[in-house]
Amino acid sequence: MTPPARGTNEDGPWPRRDARGTDRTLVHVQELHDAPLAPLTTFRLGGPAARLVTATTDAEVVAAVRAADESGTPLLVIGGGSNLVIGDRGFDGTALRIATTGFHLDGTRLELAAGENWSDAVARTVEAGLAGIECLAGIPGSAGATPIQNVGAYGQEVRDTITEVVAYDRTTGETVTLTAAECAFRYRHSTFKDQPDRYVVLRVRFALEDAGGLSAPIKYPETARALGVEAGDRVPAAAARETVLRLRAGKGMVLDPADHDTWSAGSFFHNPILTDEAYAAFLARVQDRLGPDTAPPAYPAGEGRTKTSAAWLIDRAGFTKGYGTGPARISTKHTLALTNRGEATTEDLLTLAREVVAGVHAAFGVTLVNEPVTVGVSI
Ligand SMILES: Cc1cc2nc3c(=O)[nH]c(=O)nc-3n(C[C@H](O)[C@H](O)[C@H](O)COP(=O)(O)OP(=O)(O)OC[C@H]3O[C@@H](n4cnc5c(N)ncnc54)[C@H](O)[C@@H]3O)c2cc1C
Repeated sequence: MTPPARGTNEDGPWPRRDARGTDRTLVHVQELHDAPLAPLTTFRLGGPAARLVTATTDAEVVAAVRAADESGTPLLVIGGGSNLVIGDRGFDGTALRIATTGFHLDGTRLELAAGENWSDAVARTVEAGLAGIECLAGIPGSAGATPIQNVGAYGQEVRDTITEVVAYDRTTGETVTLTAAECAFRYRHSTFKDQPDRYVVLRVRFALEDAGGLSAPIKYPETARALGVEAGDRVPAAAARETVLRLRAGKGMVLDPADHDTWSAGSFFHNPILTDEAYAAFLARVQDRLGPDTAPPAYPAGEGRTKTSAAWLIDRAGFTKGYGTGPARISTKHTLALTNRGEATTEDLLTLAREVVAGVHAAFGVTLVNEPVTVGVSI
């Protein structure tokens, strides 16, 4: 295909930062060969891509995807690289970096281009006095990736506010608009994860709330405690955002290039959701091992299902904060984050992940499932 030319887009001047928080002026529309992918991920791990294309408009994204599909070349879509584990051998195909821009606010309706930096977009909606995504501040990566795993934190998920997702459908070659219902959002899941090779997200639309500068009702107990309010209360949206950012930073969950605790993909494992029967067996095993009064975290997760905490399981299985002696270790600030201490390879990370999965299974009979998307490797 013809390499996309550098150019402006419909939104005029380049915004200051892209989805990884780097200076947008450093981003060039380009096609590279044998290009390192590790610097495009928050783990800083993984081998090179045979070909790396950076697209800055929707048309360039669609053209790059079509070209790959028509030639039968494998395609890897990359936003901010904050939920990716790329194998040491790299990716033998086209890696497409989405660097599109567009922040359009019309009353309480928000449309974001897929390449927009998510956390910056959240800040802008709070500055505009709107509620609905303020507790999702500090989640790294791009707006276009938020529907993929229905990102969530501190009592909010994007499914609460997404109305539509505009995507290129690789099976039909058309650009389509999916309603929120068609996105089939669940806990860290959606139709985009069900059909991982089908859609490339171009734009995401949200319905926010004008609550006179106040946040949405605070749902998460830890946030309510930190704000000194009851769950269900509203606070100034800016206060909610700042409190979440402070809580996140204390757990190594806000990107900081100088802090190896943030060289991660955030939570590495999903919180397990167990059927009533599986939960009863799990509880018996916990109490047998840790004493009859031990009560593992348990949250309702729909009819006949209970969600427990992966962090609790990992910790109680003996993998405490900072666990490990090699170049890949558990974060010193959060049991659920596996981190690259600077010199790790993907294989080091996977060895640690496998050890944790096996240890938790041996202790409690629960199999943890990884949250980040793996490329060319599995756990
Ligand atoms: C420090 C830290 C904290 C985090 N905290 C949270 C948290 O609180 N809650 C949470 O839910 N997640 C969290 N994450 C995970 C991650 O930030 C989110 O999943 C985020 O949405 C990933 O965005 P990204 O642009 O970096 O996606 P990438 O890592 O680039 O890609 C992830 C997946 O999405 C696909 N993808 C990306 N863009 C598109 C697109 N436009 N169209 C189609 N597919 C696409 C990729 O192909 C890949 O399969 C955290 C990560 C880190 C490093």
